[in-house]
Amino acid sequence: MPRFQGLPASPGIAFGPAFVYKPYHATYDEAKIENPQIEWALLEAAIQKAGIQLKALQERARKTAGEEEAAIFEAHQMFLEDEELLKKARHLVFEQKMNPKAAIHHSFEPYAEALLSLDDEYFRARAQDVRDVAQRIMRCLDGAEETSLDLLTEPCIVVAEDLTPSDTVQFERDKILGIATVKGGPTSHSAILARAMGVPAVVNLPLNIDQIQNNILCILDGSEGIFNVGPTLKELEIARQKKQDWETQRAIEVGQAFLPAVTRDRKRQVEVVANIGNIQDAEQALQFGAEGVGLFRTEFLYLQRSTMPTIKEQVTAYQRVFEIMGNKPVVVRTLDIGGDKDVPYLGMTQEPNPFLGWRAIRMIRDRPDVLENQFTALLEAAGRVVANGIECDLRIMLPMVSSTAEVERAREIFNQTYEELQRQNIPLPKAVQFGIMIEVPSAAILADRFAPLVDFFSIGTNDLTQYTLAVDRTNERVAILASPYHPAVLRLIKMTIDAAHANGIWVGLCGELAGDPIAVPLLLGMGLDEFSMAPSSIPTIKNLIRQWSLPVCEQIAHEALSFSLAAEVIEFLKNQKTQ
Ligand code: PEP
Ligand code: MG
Repeated sequence: MPRFQGLPASPGIAFGPAFVYKPYHATYDEAKIENPQIEWALLEAAIQKAGIQLKALQERARKTAGEEEAAIFEAHQMFLEDEELLKKARHLVFEQKMNPKAAIHHSFEPYAEALLSLDDEYFRARAQDVRDVAQRIMRCLDGAEETSLDLLTEPCIVVAEDLTPSDTVQFERDKILGIATVKGGPTSHSAILARAMGVPAVVNLPLNIDQIQNNILCILDGSEGIFNVGPTLKELEIARQKKQDWETQRAIEVGQAFLPAVTRDRKRQVEVVANIGNIQDAEQALQFGAEGVGLFRTEFLYLQRSTMPTIKEQVTAYQRVFEIMGNKPVVVRTLDIGGDKDVPYLGMTQEPNPFLGWRAIRMIRDRPDVLENQFTALLEAAGRVVANGIECDLRIMLPMVSSTAEVERAREIFNQTYEELQRQNIPLPKAVQFGIMIEVPSAAILADRFAPLVDFFSIGTNDLTQYTLAVDRTNERVAILASPYHPAVLRLIKMTIDAAHANGIWVGLCGELAGDPIAVPLLLGMGLDEFSMAPSSIPTIKNLIRQWSLPVCEQIAHEALSFSLAAEVIEFLKNQKTQ
């Protein structure tokens, strides 16, 4: 019987009949038109109709799924009303006599592709939103009805090419056992919504949905990324048991998500905090027991637009996150663009090696104003929250630091900004910690020189791995080489932690490694103070921390550092039992 291996997108096990979902897909051709006025009027009517549909979906999402899901449709309405996109479509209809469906495709698709070329998975996943909106307009032009999953009469595993937010919001939660899609990554909408609904999901499955029969019995393992079509009775029995075990375990973890992360022998307590990229993530982080934010990626404010965000716009966004997090610490990372996150309005040019180029803190030489504005906005936002009686624990962090001169210069700008705001009698937070990411080998090697200059370090293993091993993190052909368990990376992590502690500062880790269960004893044993990860991983990692004793972890860390290969380290860690 066929078993397919995809990417785990939302943990849990499901079994039940398949529902093969094939929504109406509008297509277009390149036929030219004769009367642009009439065609444009039809297009405007279709856009209006799409807007009405989106408002209705937003309302429905608010009632059935929550604010976070409703916000997706608000974002869709923004794409629908985007002046640049509509201007381009209008130009194509009037100047090139393009038919309306083709004009929509040719104005929305390049934008979706630009998003797809970004390094950040979150933004890449937004390409799906842009395509979803274009499809909706084209469907309205065809006069097609809304596709609907209301057709489901009994609980099913939904099998689809991909799911758009509009599809998923029509789910009745109790009719969906699981989601299996051919497309999408772990941060695609199918995955985000599946996680929000607590439904197991596997994405990126190598299957042809036309060959899956409706109602055939399937097993979906969202933790392992396996989709089993037509399982044997034995496989079904195993899945039933696994599902029961998983649900019991997850319920325990989530039920205890608010307990502190103290080791079993009470020798050590660490902070378990969240990586967030927007306001919705902050809300989710709290629900999963985050003790703060260890990495707030601020790029979302700068991408997908053609001008710099104003200080006012930034203040509004930061203030909202600070209000949500209350008195919990929030580590905000200053702008980390460059690499392959292109922001043309900041004067970026095509570079032969963008990951080794004008990225992140390196902009400080040519564009100190960008950092200055961000410091101003962060301080003002935190000050407003403090003035409203909330103790805001703002911590600022610089990305991609490779030289102590960068830290000194950034500090200087920060101090000047603080003093200037103070002179203007603007309310300000009293103490703001100032730290750096350790994600370039030179910073790890010289950690003892950096430590006296800052209040904390946060190790970015995603980039530290890329730069230590000379493996482009976006190149699939060398992805197999990019392991944070490579002993060279582990040594740099250890050096960083030791240098931080020798200088009396705390050190966190905000790369994906912090959310990997097998890394827990290793990082605890190395002495890490703070673990920062995707919100949904927090209950699991906290639970694991509570099962390990410190001396055992120290021994594991010691042994892990003695290997020569990443594979050996992984094998060794997989074989360790909590004690
Ligand atoms: C890292 O490099 O590990 C990190 C957390 O930053 P980003 O993934 O945003 O580059
Ligand atoms: Mg990084």
